[in-house]
Amino acid sequence: FIEISNLYKTFYNKKQRIEVLKGIDLSVEKGEIYGIVGFSGAGKSTLVRCINRLEEPDSGIVKIGDQEITALGKAALNEQRRKIGMIFQQFNLFDSMTVEKNIAYPLKLTGVTGKEADVRVEEMLNLVGLTEKKNAYPGELSGGQKQRVGIARALANRPDVLLSDEATSALDPQTTLSVLDLLKEINQKLGLTIILITHELEVIKYTCHRMAVMEDGKLLEQGLVKDIFSNPQCETARNFIRVYN
Ligand code: ATP
Ligand code: MG
Repeated sequence: FIEISNLYKTFYNKKQRIEVLKGIDLSVEKGEIYGIVGFSGAGKSTLVRCINRLEEPDSGIVKIGDQEITALGKAALNEQRRKIGMIFQQFNLFDSMTVEKNIAYPLKLTGVTGKEADVRVEEMLNLVGLTEKKNAYPGELSGGQKQRVGIARALANRPDVLLSDEATSALDPQTTLSVLDLLKEINQKLGLTIILITHELEVIKYTCHRMAVMEDGKLLEQGLVKDIFSNPQCETARNFIRVYN
């Protein structure tokens, strides 16, 4: 469903040339929760940002369903982006807007307004269990509640894909579990395909069907979570299992 082939990305700083993605091949099935684990600086955020072209890859192909994302012009890309939701470590909510307004924001961008928008917001609030907080401001919410708003906002336009970049990294273990449970529930209920990026192997073990280990711009190892846990092939995977278990 999500097909990435031979993806490259290099950043140029003042004098430096940093090759961040060095030929990524990845295939994620529809309805799957796919985990990517890697140490800091491996290129995980860059990889997910290349999927919706928040970052422009230098070369390679990203396909979602029958749409070749990397071949789209600006207008078509904006159209496709509404089918790709994203959540972040720092939640990225608008602090001056209520929960309700935060969730309604992407709807405004896609021209869903009035009664239809209200119904959609209610639906999302219900989905993430925050109906009673709809008039609260982000500053009045706990971290877990903020991320629930982030999820509701990401799903408001009914995307096919959710990209999660360290979405639980700022949360305590208990809250992390509740957010991961919500992602699993959404995955089941809506058949949403999720790519979940993390540096915490536990998060992947708890949530994902398949996974990849990323290091230095490459996916070193890919497979079923249970296979990689029971029989890691690469040094990095073995280190992760040693460090985090
Ligand atoms: P973390 O776990 O710390 O979030 P990551 O795996 O998400 O790390 P990236 O954020 O993708 O890693 O960064 C990979 C490399 O790319 C780093 O060396 C980083 O400094 C560099 N990099 C990322 N974005 C940019 C940018 N806009 N300009 C220059 N270099 C960048
Ligand atoms: Mg990152």
